[in-house]
Amino acid sequence: MATQGTNVWHDLAWFAGPCTVAPHLSCNRPASFSFSDTIMAYRTHSPHALRALVTDMVTAAGWTLEEARETADHLVLANLSGHDSHGVGMLPLYFQSLADGNLSPQAKPKARLDAAPFLIIDAGVALGQPAARNAVEQAAAMAKAGGVAILNLLDAHHIGRIGHYAEAAAEHGLISLFWVNVAGRPPIVAPHAAKEARFGTNPHAIGIPVPGGDPIILDFATSRMAHGKARVALNKGEAVPPGYIIDGQGRPTTEPRHVFLHGIAGDETLGALLPFGDHKGAGLALIAELLSAGLMGAARIDQKPARSWILNSLFGIVIDPARLEPDAALRKDRVESYLAFVRAAKPQDPADPVLTPGEKERATRIARTRDGIPLDDETWSQIKAAAAAHGLDAERY
Ligand code: NAD
Repeated sequence: MATQGTNVWHDLAWFAGPCTVAPHLSCNRPASFSFSDTIMAYRTHSPHALRALVTDMVTAAGWTLEEARETADHLVLANLSGHDSHGVGMLPLYFQSLADGNLSPQAKPKARLDAAPFLIIDAGVALGQPAARNAVEQAAAMAKAGGVAILNLLDAHHIGRIGHYAEAAAEHGLISLFWVNVAGRPPIVAPHAAKEARFGTNPHAIGIPVPGGDPIILDFATSRMAHGKARVALNKGEAVPPGYIIDGQGRPTTEPRHVFLHGIAGDETLGALLPFGDHKGAGLALIAELLSAGLMGAARIDQKPARSWILNSLFGIVIDPARLEPDAALRKDRVESYLAFVRAAKPQDPADPVLTPGEKERATRIARTRDGIPLDDETWSQIKAAAAAHGLDAERY
């Protein structure tokens, strides 16, 4: 069931305008930049209806019910968390990969090495969310048994929001660290001081569980702005803040079209997103490429894509903190007292409190579970078309 209207699109709230989802949370945008208007047409969907729709679409396309449920849970949770760039709006792209013959329900991951503490899985371009979740569940079992697991998942189709896997490990009481590359696409992030791109948006996530409490979940792209957020600005015909993008000549620009192949003119070359934190984010992007894919010969960003798809390889370390400090109450107290110390830092703006990693997503989940998930009209029409291609009427959910 969907309701229609216009409102601030919540995914952009923290850099595009007032934080309407969770007004007590940070809007974290450059003071010098302001979007003129963030109003757009959207429809609000219940998480339950979207989960049912995605599950039916993925099973209708040939995957198992278990794979479909995992994919639906992952995508809808990304929307609930405020990361619409990795939510149900990705499904039409996956279905395009399927229609092009580049993604197949028959592709299933195979273990290449399963010898604790090492777990190497060749995903064989299987549907990403179930492949990565299963790999992390296996690594979690290994870490529970032996204290640590070192996971390498190779060549999965797009695996989505990496924090999802840090949360899965934290549910087992485990610390996790993940580095991921993005292949099958042209490079889109410039090395520090470069005029052109050499990296994907190579995300990095770390999860630390807190016994009896909410985990710390740090999860971000190594570009200063996620590519999906530039796409939102492009679709709305809006500028991005200064300092995020360079054009094909390496000149600073606020026009998001420069980082999309369909946005540039015939005589222009693709621009680049800039890495976060200058040389530091760029260094992390490089490490992510090598750790996740480069060492093991999985698809890399510097290889011309054989097909039209998005591939992710993931390198992960999963650790049982009970091996480091067996007393759970002590661990809880140590972590929570430090988080309290950090949150108590005097804010620059009293209306914008100091947060710790994972808090913003949790607040957005509460708000969107209550108010529904806003999907812009373009995204919804793409989902409807993908559903119709498999005999489903998305409006009936
Ligand atoms: P982001 O810039 O929103 O940063 C998110 C992280 O910062 C979270 O840990 C969040 O809790 C924390 N955070 C946000 N605001 C905060 C504040 N005010 N104070 C303290 N902490 C705060 O994330 P992003 O770079 O836009 O990435 C979005 C998503 O895209 C991530 O889930 C990432 O995994 C995913 N991604 C996936 C791929 C892929 O190929 N699969 C590629 C790139 C990114």
